[in-house]
Amino acid sequence: MSNYTKILVAVDLSDEASAVVQRGQAIATNNAATLDVIHVIEPLSFAYGGDIPMDFSGIQEEIQQQASAKLKHLGDKHGIADNRQHIVLGRPEVEVHGLAAETGADLIVIGSHGRHGLALLLGSTANGVLHGAGCDVLAVRVGK
Ligand code: AMP
Repeated sequence: MSNYTKILVAVDLSDEASAVVQRGQAIATNNAATLDVIHVIEPLSFAYGGDIPMDFSGIQEEIQQQASAKLKHLGDKHGIADNRQHIVLGRPEVEVHGLAAETGADLIVIGSHGRHGLALLLGSTANGVLHGAGCDVLAVRVGK
């Protein structure tokens, strides 16, 4: 089996994100691979559609600023260069697949809560990323 050369770690910026990055970094070091991190922000308009006639742009801007600061903090903590830290707007699974294809990633690393029952039926981001990925996906067990 050939080594991984380009690793993409998807982070939700929760307290568990650091453990997911650490696992990706260990694999990157062992394989002399590059490592990129991505956080996807879902636009508020996705949640509310056109149903509520409100201008969300101020709140959206605030969310993006906070997410950027958190990702920078996480990236800096792990020594990940600024140009390998990606904040993207959209649906997490779509954007993770998109950046993986764009960067030619051969491994995507995600966190997984190992949900089951109703939560699994409703789906999770980890599930969405796993299905339809064009490369290997490592689900790192996080939380309970
Ligand atoms: P979840 O399925 O929402 O519990 O999230 C599981 C994992 O999916 C997280 O640990 C991340 O690896 C990834 N993930 C969830 N939300 C996002 C997001 N907004 N951007 C990037 N990755 C995410």
